[in-house]
Amino acid sequence: MEVAEAAREETRTKPSFAAEVFLGHLPTSLFHPFPEQPAEDRAQGDAILDDIDRVLREEIDPDAVDATGELPDRAIERLKEAGAFRLKLPAKYGGLGLSQSNYNRIVALVGSWCGSTAIWMSGHQSIGVPTPLKLFGTDEQKERYLPRLAAGELSAFALTEPEVGSDPARMETVAERAPDGDGWILNGEKLWCTNGPKADIMIVMARTPDREIKGRKRKQISAFIVEAGWPGVSTTYRCDFLGYGGIQSGQLKFENVRVPAENLLWNEGQGLKLALITLNTGRLTLPATNTAVAKQCLSIVRRWASKREQWGAPIGRHEAVSVQIGWIASHAFAMDALTDYVAALADRGDSDIRLEAAMAKLWCSEAVFEIADRTMQIRGGRGYETPQSLKGRGESAYPVERIFRESRLNRIVEGTSEIMRLFLAREALDPHLARAGALADPKASSLAKAWAVIKAAPYYTVWYLRRVIPFFGMPANMPPPLRRHWRYLRRSVRRLARRMFYAMVRHGPALEHRQGVLGRLVDECADLVAMGLTISRAISKGDAASVELADLFCRHARARINMRHTVPDSLSRVGSDVARGVLEGRYLDLERGILPVEADGSPGERS
Ligand SMILES: Cc1cc2nc3c(=O)[nH]c(=O)nc-3n(C[C@H](O)[C@H](O)[C@H](O)COP(=O)(O)OP(=O)(O)OC[C@H]3O[C@@H](n4cnc5c(N)ncnc54)[C@H](O)[C@@H]3O)c2cc1C
Repeated sequence: MEVAEAAREETRTKPSFAAEVFLGHLPTSLFHPFPEQPAEDRAQGDAILDDIDRVLREEIDPDAVDATGELPDRAIERLKEAGAFRLKLPAKYGGLGLSQSNYNRIVALVGSWCGSTAIWMSGHQSIGVPTPLKLFGTDEQKERYLPRLAAGELSAFALTEPEVGSDPARMETVAERAPDGDGWILNGEKLWCTNGPKADIMIVMARTPDREIKGRKRKQISAFIVEAGWPGVSTTYRCDFLGYGGIQSGQLKFENVRVPAENLLWNEGQGLKLALITLNTGRLTLPATNTAVAKQCLSIVRRWASKREQWGAPIGRHEAVSVQIGWIASHAFAMDALTDYVAALADRGDSDIRLEAAMAKLWCSEAVFEIADRTMQIRGGRGYETPQSLKGRGESAYPVERIFRESRLNRIVEGTSEIMRLFLAREALDPHLARAGALADPKASSLAKAWAVIKAAPYYTVWYLRRVIPFFGMPANMPPPLRRHWRYLRRSVRRLARRMFYAMVRHGPALEHRQGVLGRLVDECADLVAMGLTISRAISKGDAASVELADLFCRHARARINMRHTVPDSLSRVGSDVARGVLEGRYLDLERGILPVEADGSPGERS
């Protein structure tokens, strides 16, 4: 709850599409007509895209970057010259001042070719120093650092620690006031800091002295701009991962680092909020690169499945394969709509995009891995073979093996899928908690709960009736194949709100622990939002191909939603019971017959 609260951006006032769906509304005006990127803005991005395209072709061999672990210096220099590391920096400070939509298009192009290079760029400008500095820095801080970043200095974002991942509020890195009263002394360790080993400047979140607020001691987290060259800052380890071999992500140590007072970013105690707000927009890059990878997969399967023949026909003509291709195409279409929609919201700047950003991140991360998996299956043995080995045999060297490894990361970074679902569920329940909070509060007394029921009953009677009575209406020019999907959408948003209400009544305060129930409600909302956007995008494009893709996507989304309704709540409960048994060693018998791996990698005792 605390984390969700901290991420709120109070200045943005427009309602959120996702929040409205959770409440049982279909706020058509928020997403239809589809907010396509304005032509003038698009033209600004086009010029830079051409330059970046040239650098990618001439300087970057993505398989070599992945295999050797090095992005060549010349490639980085040429990318910098082309503006790739100052895309969103304001022009006033030497940046290109591009919109989020253009930034997404450029990172997507890079990500479609070389995932490691895209991470260098996004570690620097999606979450690194430029974004929080632009949002929260003083004029003096901006004058001091933004021109340096525009001139090519690299940045990083240091939040995660060895003991603190999804729950950053419990971080252990500390910043204490310097004994001479001049600034801060920073001590601690940060893990997996992307760009960290190469960064010149970074944002570091650290605990600062607790404060007493309304009689309660409150932990404080503050954000600091830290320069890598200062005494006491060091990289203790460069990490190596399943994919993205060319990224530089490491463990950093801060030992009695003196940070000047003027390097505190925003206010003392607002570091967690700053980090989470940074991630709200930072998160938009992953959907953009995921969508680009999905399109790359589509392009690969189109060529491969029409050329490769088995059993007397191109494999793409066998139904088991063609169904996969349809899934990839229709979901790539939906990912594109979702990503572009959230980028448009960010550019407009008047909406609280937390929900949509988290939803796009969650949904696209899950979809791209599914797409990579299906693409690997369609490529068969060649999907599992490395591009280098394929090249060595003189075969088509589509990098499906690399894409598969890389795609897996998205479900883990910048908020895991589980945490995104919890965050969205918390937001979905927020209006209900505000109205009948005592009912869901495990600490509330029976009297407080009874009073909450009496107070909320009249409101919820009307609320419920409104979510049963059907409503009508449909955007003009709705293509006939999409009409029934729109009607389904209209019905389903109400049903979702009712299902959430039942869950609250049924589970009461225990609902916050019923992550399976909450997760299914969130996934249903995400599918409904994606349906709405896909239909709107198809109308906006106005061609038959888009309608076909939207139609197929809606069919898949509906099948998923209907299937989720058949999952009994007890499945999660019984699953959790078994999980408890696993943790307590109840099923050790099942682990017989293996050579167990010990934590140090050595073979353990065989049972
Ligand atoms: C390649 C790479 C690059 C990264 N770059 C950066 C970076 O630049 N800066 C930075 O600060 N961090 C970075 N990270 C860290 C990344 O954001 C974290 O890995 C992520 O936040 C998850 O934390 P964790 O790995 O410690 O997992 P944990 O928090 O230990 O979680 C482990 C599992 O438990 C689940 N879980 C945890 N809590 C709950 C809960 N309450 N309910 C349900 N499920 C739960 C998680 O979803 C996950 O499945 C990077 C990580 C990687 C691998």
